[in-house]
Amino acid sequence: MLLKTILNRVQRHKSFVYDKVRMIEKAKGNHVLEIGLKARSNSRPICSGCHRAGPTYDRLPERLFLFVPLWQIQVYFVYAMRRVNCAHCGKVIVEEVPWAVGKGRLTKACQWFLARWAQRMSWQEVARAFHTTWDHVHSSVQYAVQWGLVHRVTEGVKTIGVDEIQYARGHQYLTLVYQIDKGCKRLLWIGKEHTADCLRGFFQLMGEPFAHGLKFVCSDMWRAYLEVIAEQAPQAVHVLDRFHIMKLMNKAIDEVRREEVKRLKQDGYEPILKNSRWCLLKRLENMTKKQTVKLTELMRYNLQSMRAKLSRDDFQRFWDYESVGWAAKFLEEWCSRTMRSKIEPMKKVARTLRSHKELLLNWFRADGELSSGVVEGFNNKAKLAMRKAYGFRTYEAIQHALYHQLGALPTPEMTHEFA
Ligand SMILES: [Zn+2]
Repeated sequence: MLLKTILNRVQRHKSFVYDKVRMIEKAKGNHVLEIGLKARSNSRPICSGCHRAGPTYDRLPERLFLFVPLWQIQVYFVYAMRRVNCAHCGKVIVEEVPWAVGKGRLTKACQWFLARWAQRMSWQEVARAFHTTWDHVHSSVQYAVQWGLVHRVTEGVKTIGVDEIQYARGHQYLTLVYQIDKGCKRLLWIGKEHTADCLRGFFQLMGEPFAHGLKFVCSDMWRAYLEVIAEQAPQAVHVLDRFHIMKLMNKAIDEVRREEVKRLKQDGYEPILKNSRWCLLKRLENMTKKQTVKLTELMRYNLQSMRAKLSRDDFQRFWDYESVGWAAKFLEEWCSRTMRSKIEPMKKVARTLRSHKELLLNWFRADGELSSGVVEGFNNKAKLAMRKAYGFRTYEAIQHALYHQLGALPTPEMTHEFA
């Protein structure tokens, strides 16, 4: 089958026809395919300013547009753009062509192709596999994300989760808002900071009907978020979710451990707590054999770290309650016990939990409507997505990577899927 026949099957353009196909050796052993395109003789160019047809003014020199590679050979469309003498715009403007956007050097097909691969591999790997650059992969992802954001539907969202994630060294945090409804889980929005104003920006963008339609909002205890959620979606049940509470406790355990390591060293004890970080933080069922052995060893000492860990494990029972009343009773008992423990970081956790008691108990009032692992799952996926875009850790690239990976964005229907 001739190449042109295939192209007419997979990528047909209404007012243009495929012309000559040439294979050129750019360097020794490095071939590229150039496929000419011509406007149909009776067609008039479309003005890229107003999208209306107009008379041809002149023709620019030939330009190359990168297409989807065939058999690992780079393929270019070659076309001399016409300029339109547009009566409507009142000036001479370059025509628009159906296979590319604006001044872009990549065809749309190529952009969708690279963007799809970038969901499966790191951007660097995509660039290497298809002999292109990291920048081309990024701009393709950007194109896909922009298209998706314009075409997505955000009606009917009942449940959202608000999370924050560190994206660069220092205190550079992003605010992420997810839809976590049973039938639809996706990233809805990214904010550049983790301030009240930032989250307010999300509610402003989505509008009042969106905020008033919310039934549940999940978040951590960050005061800025608590304030904005109460102000923007007062009717929604606000739930502090399990992931964030456990994160808080793990932070406390880590603090206790670090202090204790220091103290033991000063008092001249053997370094029993060395390499103990993960066996204190992990749950028993997730531990390796080595970590279990280490844990048994640690049990022999009456360590604060160990007691803090046991107290956290004990708290896990909280989530198993079904009635709000019993859960409240357990919470109060756990807090009182912890307050007597003399372990300062854990006492701080207990105080925090006490002061957020109602929001914590909302977990039970939500009555099984929320699944506990969702926000945590997204948090892990977000970290992975940021690693995939690794190259230039700019806010822009990270934003595109996150939407691309977690946004469940729509894609256009195409006559042929290249990837
Ligand atoms: Zn025009």
